[in-house]
Amino acid sequence: MSKPERTSTHFSMNESLLFEEGSPGRCAFDLPQLDVPRKEMSELMDPELLRSEIPGMPELSEVDVIRHFTRLSSWNYHIDLGLYPLGSCTMKYNPKINERMARLEGFALAHPYLPGEMIQGALEVQKTLENCLAQISGMDAVTLQPAAGAHGELTGILMVRAYHQSRGNPRKKILIPDSAHGTNPASAAIAGYVVESVPSNNRGTIDSGELRKLVNDDVAAIMITNPNTLGIFESEIAGIAESVHAHGALVYMDGANLNAMMGITRPGDFGIDVLHINLHKTFTTPHGGGGPGSGPVAVKKVLEPFLPYPVIQSNANGSYSFNYDRPHSIGKVKAYNGQFGMHVRALCYILANGAEGLKEVSEVAVLNANYIRSKLKDAYALAYDSPSLHEVVFSDRLQARKDVHVWDIAKRLMDYGFHPPTVSFPLIVPGAIMIEPTETESKQELDAFIEAMLAIEKEAEQNPELVKSAPHTTRVGRIDEAAAARKPVLRWRAGG
Ligand SMILES: *Cc1c(COP(=O)(O)O)cnc(C)c1O
Repeated sequence: MSKPERTSTHFSMNESLLFEEGSPGRCAFDLPQLDVPRKEMSELMDPELLRSEIPGMPELSEVDVIRHFTRLSSWNYHIDLGLYPLGSCTMKYNPKINERMARLEGFALAHPYLPGEMIQGALEVQKTLENCLAQISGMDAVTLQPAAGAHGELTGILMVRAYHQSRGNPRKKILIPDSAHGTNPASAAIAGYVVESVPSNNRGTIDSGELRKLVNDDVAAIMITNPNTLGIFESEIAGIAESVHAHGALVYMDGANLNAMMGITRPGDFGIDVLHINLHKTFTTPHGGGGPGSGPVAVKKVLEPFLPYPVIQSNANGSYSFNYDRPHSIGKVKAYNGQFGMHVRALCYILANGAEGLKEVSEVAVLNANYIRSKLKDAYALAYDSPSLHEVVFSDRLQARKDVHVWDIAKRLMDYGFHPPTVSFPLIVPGAIMIEPTETESKQELDAFIEAMLAIEKEAEQNPELVKSAPHTTRVGRIDEAAAARKPVLRWRAGG
């Protein structure tokens, strides 16, 4: 078995016992005596439900707790530790200067209810970010309110609905290609639309002939991802937009991932009416762990009246203010004006790179994905022959002959110290392995990943059991995924 040189986490099995058991009488902090009379409490609540002690809680000192959680954090894999090639998710390195800026006191401590006159700097940050995103995407106006990509989709489709409604008929259907991210049909359905799936052709792009058959006056919009989730550019997009517009429908683009496009082409220039942009993918705001995301939505002029309110207005005297006087607005979609800390981070990233830098980001992201593609294409079956942009999709077709499947390959990669790529998505590729290295990885890091993938390919050929029983070096071995899903253990209990 190959040695997992990259795993940085050394541990002994009894480390967790320290936390599990503690030591009676150990204590990190003494809470002051309860100053709510117990009698009153028992009037408020059934005394049987009151307890003076939490059963089975370990007794621990401050240092026990700190070490426990610090240790746990080091058992996890994260973007600061190495390549995280999760296709479609764009897990790129988040520059620490973004964090410094977001923590500036004037930003971090600003209360969201401060009046406009007192937050001119914050409003300028948001307005500048809106302008940058409009310029990058070729659109006319932006809202920063949505808190995630899926939230942006819902916001965008609600605007599409409001637009059609204002013309007398909200229409019934949204067309979505079968390669789409699962959030697309979910957002369309929540906005009250029936979803109709458009098949892909053998090049992995939307079948425009089929699409033309499906577009009619019942269609409110098409939701299209470009480059699509196979990492392939929808080269017929301009013609597709034209035929959709001919029926009075709109074109929504899922722009969660703009990593292949910045400074090279713009959705607004190929017929898109509305798109969302994930700051927590393309624009290096933190991603994962349930932290706040940010999914701004950019629109063309026709949809501007429907933007969520308030919108930030630039006044003639150079000041900024919130404008609530928006009679056609779909309303508010989020408290305040979105995840402000994310806006500071994203703007910092955009300004630090500049226009030329962002273009280079896209060029290097595409180059890196294609480097991996060319090195792995003989070992793993390419899902489609069409040129790849920022991500490349393989399948486990060759390895499946030895009964080694995508999930085995993913788990074996952990033994080599890498976070696995996205697997089993997009759904139209059986056994999909979707690799997105992003621009932040060096050639050395990519080479190490490629070497691991090639070693696993050999193992699958010569010793398939080794791959099928992976992972072997991680703290937790192969888990029973069905049991984990059906009987999840979500709460810590003494004694496991
Ligand atoms: C990530 C992603 C989404 C959803 O974004 P969230 O912020 O996770 O809601 C939608 N579409 C595509 C193509 C994505 O990659």
